[in-house]
Amino acid sequence: MKKLGIQDLDLKGKRALVRVDFNVPLDESGRITDDTRIRASLPTIRRIMEEGGKAILISHLGRPKGKPDPVFSLAPAARRLSELLGRKVTFVDDCVGGKVRSAVEKMEEGDVILLENLRFHPGEKAGDDAFAEQLSAPADLYIDDAFGTAHRGHASMVGVAAHLQPAAAGFLLQKEIEYLGSVLADPRRPLVAILGGAKVSDKITVIESLIGKVDSLLIGGAMAYTFLQADGVPVGASKVEEEVEGAGGETIKLTDLVREILRRADQRGVEVLLPVDHLAADHFAADAAVEIVSRDGIKAGWLGMDIGPETARIYGEKIKEAGTVFWNGPMGVFEMKPFAAGTMAIARALADSSAVSIVGGGDSVSAVNLSGVADRITHVSTGGGASLEFLEGKTLPGIAALTDSNR
Ligand code: AMP
Repeated sequence: MKKLGIQDLDLKGKRALVRVDFNVPLDESGRITDDTRIRASLPTIRRIMEEGGKAILISHLGRPKGKPDPVFSLAPAARRLSELLGRKVTFVDDCVGGKVRSAVEKMEEGDVILLENLRFHPGEKAGDDAFAEQLSAPADLYIDDAFGTAHRGHASMVGVAAHLQPAAAGFLLQKEIEYLGSVLADPRRPLVAILGGAKVSDKITVIESLIGKVDSLLIGGAMAYTFLQADGVPVGASKVEEEVEGAGGETIKLTDLVREILRRADQRGVEVLLPVDHLAADHFAADAAVEIVSRDGIKAGWLGMDIGPETARIYGEKIKEAGTVFWNGPMGVFEMKPFAAGTMAIARALADSSAVSIVGGGDSVSAVNLSGVADRITHVSTGGGASLEFLEGKTLPGIAALTDSNR
């Protein structure tokens, strides 16, 4: 079902409660180290300002424990937003109650205020209805632009939309749905998915659903070692997962699950590529002794830390031939410079390819930013977990809660 968009709303003079995702990384002194998420919300905020609406922004930041914690204050985000917009952004140090009410009463058309971290209240993550009602109270309508949390049933997304109609999608949320939707609906082929990162268990369901859609699946990162082990290849002391918990709480051996996935892929004619060489290290540290080894060459006690150059070349060729590429998860321990080459090579291959390229959130976005090629990627998603759940074909609660559109 198509959802109402911000462009369908009459915003003039209206108090718009806008759920943004300002969950930005901060350094020890509270400085924002990457403002991508704030920048990504600017089109929606500017639209409200230009149309003479009043933007009341709400967001979470980090993981405070349901009570105020200055480390997770959104005050630095208000300052950064003010710089980006070139105008004053009032910060209110709570997200519900009298302070919010009086700040909203003072707002004029085109004004922007940012409320303090939603997660300073336990009701946010609990999806508490009374908290959602309090949040909705000062506003006339709701706009959701927080794709990164759309897979969560939190009060500021699902609860608020029940109290505050119309509830529409902001420009960022619409863009995410459009690009990720294009991977599912009618992708330019070949459709290639590249999955990496630490855990297979996190990505099993998305792998299973992608097997039904993609032409090729390229595996890297630590999860490649669980696949290789299932294939009978020695992986030394590489990070391997043995078991996952099934839907009914039962224990499932990952090697069995992986073999089943490979069998199904084979049946469907889907090509699954695993690394053919590795950068191995004698221990998990940036100054470890390293060597490039072939597929079977990881010695006892050594760890696979990155895909090797031949794997990067093969994966690069696949990306070059692709019509659409979706990438989530680094190819190695890219936070340590000696083990970043494989991940950087994939980022560059995506940037150089003529394919529709979509990077799904989290560490792969940091990698794309680090390699300086973000502006040559078709779409860099702001949602890690949300983009994976979207591709699994799940209905995201934050999207489902919005008002249906009959246009
Ligand atoms: P994820 O959150 O599942 O995307 O995983 C990201 C993490 O996977 C990063 O912190 C990487 O350091 C880690 N990672 C990638 N490759 C490896 C590897 N070969 N061994 C250990 N950790 C890895």
